[in-house]
Amino acid sequence: MADSGDSPESKLEAIRRRFAAKLSERIDGIEAAHRALSAATGGAEVAVALDDLIFPVHRMAGSAATFGFVEAGDTAARLEDLLNAVKDAGRPPSAEEGERISTLVVGLRRSAADDPRPAAAPPPAPEEVPATGEPRLVFLVEDDAELARDMAAQLGHFGYRVRTFPDASDLARSIAGTPPAALILDILPGRESARGIEAPQGIPTIVISSLDDLSSRLEAVRAGAHGYFTKPVDMARLVETLDQATETADIEPYRIMIVEDDRELAEYYAALLEREGMVSAVFTDPMKIMDPLSDFRPDLILMDINMPGCNGIELAGVIRQNEDFTRIPIVFLTVETSLSRRLLALRAGGDDFLTKPAQLDLLMSSVISRCQRSRLLGSMISRDSMTGLVNHSKIKEHLDTELKRAVREDQPLAFAMLDIDRFKSVNDTYGHWTGDTVIKTLAQVLRQRLRKTDIVGRYGGEEFAVILPNTDTGNAFGVLDGIRDGFARIRHQVAREAFYVTFSCGIAAYPPFDDSPLLNQKADEALYRAKEGGRNRVVSAATA
Ligand code: GH3
Ligand code: MG
Ligand code: MG
Ligand code: MG
Repeated sequence: MADSGDSPESKLEAIRRRFAAKLSERIDGIEAAHRALSAATGGAEVAVALDDLIFPVHRMAGSAATFGFVEAGDTAARLEDLLNAVKDAGRPPSAEEGERISTLVVGLRRSAADDPRPAAAPPPAPEEVPATGEPRLVFLVEDDAELARDMAAQLGHFGYRVRTFPDASDLARSIAGTPPAALILDILPGRESARGIEAPQGIPTIVISSLDDLSSRLEAVRAGAHGYFTKPVDMARLVETLDQATETADIEPYRIMIVEDDRELAEYYAALLEREGMVSAVFTDPMKIMDPLSDFRPDLILMDINMPGCNGIELAGVIRQNEDFTRIPIVFLTVETSLSRRLLALRAGGDDFLTKPAQLDLLMSSVISRCQRSRLLGSMISRDSMTGLVNHSKIKEHLDTELKRAVREDQPLAFAMLDIDRFKSVNDTYGHWTGDTVIKTLAQVLRQRLRKTDIVGRYGGEEFAVILPNTDTGNAFGVLDGIRDGFARIRHQVAREAFYVTFSCGIAAYPPFDDSPLLNQKADEALYRAKEGGRNRVVSAATA
């Protein structure tokens, strides 16, 4: 992405240019097919020649306008209608129809010679979204240096990067320089007041204070604070608020599978989606999408209807036969406008139907809103409601998929199981509610500290499972031992009482363990050894 030649804008422009360069060649093909049709004699020969002409015309009707050749697209669409009418009648074109076909073919060449119209330029690029996966920066204003250091360290264990300020005097300048994801502000009695700090430029602000009176709280609310915490600050709750306040920029990119036989068009859509921060995969051969489907795990499929070999409606039917794919939204794209065909497509399991040439902003908004809904529904089914992590059955599914991929691509994969140590005594000493908070805290830590590509699940109770793709045992050990160390330093707070909790962890990896029940068993055995060895440790499965 560092190479400016790879920017989404220049990619779009390159595809546009490629289409324009090929346009004349495509029209050559249409003219040749037209000549063949004119020369054809006898019903069978005419029928074949007609099909050979309809196909390239249909393609042009679907793509030309997207690349700025509005008139050429329009002419092609009219020509396609006429050719289809002739085809439906099941006879050679009449003399008058032949005339009109010739006129349209000539018109096609002429309109293509016009420059592309600026009207077809893609919608403007969205605003830059901050990159995800890096620790989020938080500014902390706290005059007590020792407390500031301690809070910074605690927040660090949750994956936040903290810059501390002894007072608010330098704050505005620093915020202008490097805007933080959030601001935590200590309010001193009689000194700084919340009113003085008006949450700058919409940066979420959380107030901490030793005061617990209503007027201080009111003042904070009026200043636009996201939260108010009295000291000693309950870090788990503070982090929960921080997570909520900063999480908007933290969605995993939507994954879109594009099934479209017209490569230029497919790549153009792909570049547009990528410009919006989505990940896309292009398939121009409809017969080859079933295997990649389980690998790529799309949030949505954008599907052309008219493709050689197999049409999109049939393909949707086949996809829907597989239980795993029943929930993936399918958005059809087609030149087809007839109501009966649309109904057929929707009955086959399509979720939306956009006509080509697609209005690009409409296409984007349809894709985004359908992805949002499908993610929401998916997360209600596959996520644990307390921690928001992937649930037990789903993590097993992920392990199967990821392991298969690892074996096929010859990449390592690590699987880890974590279990909180002596958790029963946490419940017994501090109550079940506090126990729940500890579970949520570990979930937060795992989510923050692991990569976006790692899959974190709650296996049940106080047990967690983590899948680390492209990671060998040694690296997995390093990462998880770091998390273990950080978690052990997190101070849990009940009223004025503080306590610490640890976890044990077992790791197994491919290679050598190449099936998921075995990987599971080996990680479990390693976890058992970690417990036996004294807890608060990470153990890797023996490979010998
Ligand atoms: P060990 O170090 O051997 O893992 O000891 P432990 O006490 O953590 O293990 P044990 O399996 O005996 O106890 C697990 C406890 O976790 C028992 C159960 O009540 C508690 N637990 C399971 N799920 C939850 C939950 O959702 N919330 C709370 N608060 N406690 C839970
Ligand atoms: Mg097509
Ligand atoms: Mg347990
Ligand atoms: Mg336990």
